[in-house]
Amino acid sequence: MKRRAQGWIFLVALAVLLVAASAAPARAGQVQPWAVLIGPGFDRYLPGTDVWSIGLAVVGDGAGTDVPVLAAASVSLDGDSLPAAAVVLRDKPWAMAAGRVSLSELTWLKSRASAALAGRAPDQSELLGLERVGRRLAAVLREAEGMCLTVTGRSSIAGGAHRLAVTLDYQVGRTKVSVTEEVQVLVASVPDAPGWYPADLHMHSTYSDGNKSIGGLKSDLASRGYAIGYVTEHTSALMSSGVFDSMSDSYPADCKAASDLGTSMFPGAEMAVGHGTWLGWNGDGHSLAYGISSTAGLNDNTWGPQTGLDKVRSNNSPLSSPGIAHPTHFWYPWEDWTVLRYYGIELMSGYQWYFDVNSGPATRWRSECARLQAYSDSFRPSVRSGSDYHSSWYPYVTHVKLPSDDAWTEGTWEDRWVAVSAALRDGRTTISRKGSLAYVTADGYDVGSSLVRAVGQTISFYIHFRPIEAGSYTLTLYRDNCASTVWTRSISAAANSTYTWTHSYSYPGSSHYYWLYVSGPDYCYTTPIYMHP
Ligand SMILES: [Zn+2]
Ligand SMILES: [Zn+2]
Repeated sequence: MKRRAQGWIFLVALAVLLVAASAAPARAGQVQPWAVLIGPGFDRYLPGTDVWSIGLAVVGDGAGTDVPVLAAASVSLDGDSLPAAAVVLRDKPWAMAAGRVSLSELTWLKSRASAALAGRAPDQSELLGLERVGRRLAAVLREAEGMCLTVTGRSSIAGGAHRLAVTLDYQVGRTKVSVTEEVQVLVASVPDAPGWYPADLHMHSTYSDGNKSIGGLKSDLASRGYAIGYVTEHTSALMSSGVFDSMSDSYPADCKAASDLGTSMFPGAEMAVGHGTWLGWNGDGHSLAYGISSTAGLNDNTWGPQTGLDKVRSNNSPLSSPGIAHPTHFWYPWEDWTVLRYYGIELMSGYQWYFDVNSGPATRWRSECARLQAYSDSFRPSVRSGSDYHSSWYPYVTHVKLPSDDAWTEGTWEDRWVAVSAALRDGRTTISRKGSLAYVTADGYDVGSSLVRAVGQTISFYIHFRPIEAGSYTLTLYRDNCASTVWTRSISAAANSTYTWTHSYSYPGSSHYYWLYVSGPDYCYTTPIYMHP
């Protein structure tokens, strides 16, 4: 009886809804349309670069059956509007937030991200909020086809930071929605020092799901000041097309053909690992492969995390090395943190708004350094960054230390491939968000080194910092997982000037590791230097 009464109530309610819907089609009850323009926040070009190409996306909601139509677009540079002839905008559909992120959350995220861009470190609660909203936004953006803003005629612009402001007006039914975004464009050479080469260590081309050829990637990297581009195609695409069964196949051959002494491209891979469950396959994350000479044994979605890492390592041993991609990714986080024998973790990758020492990726990296310090003679979780380019650049820099400049300039492409891959395996890396170069040596030994020292022995640390942007920076040389501060300085720095310090330190005995962290307008991390008694 009761059940039958509920059924009648339901049918009556349904009839009322149907009448209401037909009386007021589409409009009634529809959410007021809103949208937010999301950009990379930051981009970087070498002086003299004529074309800037910046990825953007619009996240919105409430459009219902009304398709948003772009009615007007205006772009200004340092407050002056650019002529239409200098601007090409490839418009794409909105990414629908569909309740996953709200207008107020995105407005807050953008304001915090721009404050962080200017050098204001977020406090812990802001950081947690940034990561929480950032992950949900990244999941929405993953479904978006990014729009591309191309600005031409910029070759004579002055060096330094510029403000590129974009305003787009959409008509959604009878409602007008206006969105704006500001991108900091830094026109600067990437800071250098003897032996250090700037790299992007994670990108996809048309060999898998990227939108540019390897030659196209190379041109973009060259205009942004990179010497090294390590292409990391999904192994499923490489293997099904048979383009990397050996170093003479088309994938490595295309890398070699696109390379010159300014910017060289190398053939790597990205392999999904996981484990079987009674429901099927469960992905445990993505590993990156460097120094491999084929895709033999690197089948996607086939290996458990440790077996997958070992497959990469044995592929072209001892040159090859596996790394862990985007450890806290919204969709493909790395899950097995008991693994051994890997050589690097991405602390900066793809869409990311947080680079602080207490951010999720940095916290995970720090705990891995602590967990794995006993193995530092054979492998270490060195710091890595990569754009994870598919259609948008995020110009993080991994500076890779080669034995000497001769290792780059005197040899063949094969020699450069060997030198870069060996440096990645040995952990001779430092990373930065915008391109600054920060590194530390101990008694002349590079980051990634594992040294034996006597208790009480004096260690000579040398700290080197060359910021890509002027501003107030704090440099800290940490021991272990932030257990103590060995040395720290706050400085007001000029762009592309070199700042150096030496610090004498009495080695306290037992095993420790030391790494440099820089915060301010740019964020930098170095791979540790390890010491054992
Ligand atoms: Zn991935
Ligand atoms: Zn990737």
